[in-house]
Amino acid sequence: MIVLCRPDLTDAQRERILSGVRGLGVTPHVRTEGARTVVEAPASADAACCEIERLAGVDRVFTGDAGAHLATWDGAGGAERTRVRVGTAEFGGRDTVLVAGPCAVEGRDVLLEIAHAVRAAGAHVLRGGAFKPRTSPYSFRGLGPEGLDMLDEARAATGLPFVTEVMDTRDVELVERHADMLQIGSRNMHNFALLSEVGRTRKPVLLKRGMSATIDEWLASAEYVLAGGNTQVVLCERGIRTFEPSSRNTLDLTAVPLVRERTHLPVVVDPSHASGRRSLVAPLARAACAAGADGVMVECHVRPDEARCDAKQAILPEELAEIAGSLRTLDAALRGPARPASAAMNGHAR
Ligand code: PEP
Ligand code: MN
Repeated sequence: MIVLCRPDLTDAQRERILSGVRGLGVTPHVRTEGARTVVEAPASADAACCEIERLAGVDRVFTGDAGAHLATWDGAGGAERTRVRVGTAEFGGRDTVLVAGPCAVEGRDVLLEIAHAVRAAGAHVLRGGAFKPRTSPYSFRGLGPEGLDMLDEARAATGLPFVTEVMDTRDVELVERHADMLQIGSRNMHNFALLSEVGRTRKPVLLKRGMSATIDEWLASAEYVLAGGNTQVVLCERGIRTFEPSSRNTLDLTAVPLVRERTHLPVVVDPSHASGRRSLVAPLARAACAAGADGVMVECHVRPDEARCDAKQAILPEELAEIAGSLRTLDAALRGPARPASAAMNGHAR
């Protein structure tokens, strides 16, 4: 039995919970996960889980295998889907959120040019890496803190909120101060220290699927963030490694409706990293929307061939505008007429 305590647990409540567990004849093990205290007791205590759940300071009690309890959706139980707000965009609402921008922040002027262009094309959120995970240490690895300042400036100039990657636990505080949404990249989906650290923040998190991660592993990684008390998690399918070398990765579109069955968290698709090829981005973006994705994230550049990172998959703003138009058409066809913002906030999603 796992007892997940409330973030505002008092010392007296903690003692009462521990003595309650000891009263069952077992020894509790206590640790913290983000802002939360977690009490672990052997399975022989499971029969008393309802009794423990009633104690003050207890949030949830889980029995059985450790797993993605908070991330799991009990649709049958009538639970609501999570909606995650980033600026004026809402992941998990009626509309497909469009996130777009360069792979990496390359400089102030080019970032501003791109930010204005993606906004005009219909993007809701700007993307761009200040800290870039690169396979080779000799590749361009981003501008670091200076890149974050440039993203701040782009937000001020366009009004677009931005998502940017954090790769290191030591940078979480810094990136959190700037970004509207923290991205955990594919290579870091298994970085449990980093996941716990972003779980301590209260900024929305975009959690990319590890390129070789199963859906169970992906949801378990989301659980690390949720267990820390950060409920604002959006999953991102970005292609998985398969035997097929013709595209950079293989977009696992099956994961979209599957994950929507398994979890209440919104899921978005990144067709840029999934395909690695400019010509494939728009058709995969449309397919993602049709499969039920809550958002699409694409790499876009005003001069794609000059991009210092992932040039082959960067699309032009004109192509982004076409994608934005397709998403609006598909949303209207598949998800009913647009509703006023207030109704969309309160009503049930799809
Ligand atoms: C990115 O989106 O900038 C990125 C590096 O993607 P991934 O982690 O999916 O490879
Ligand atoms: Mn990229």
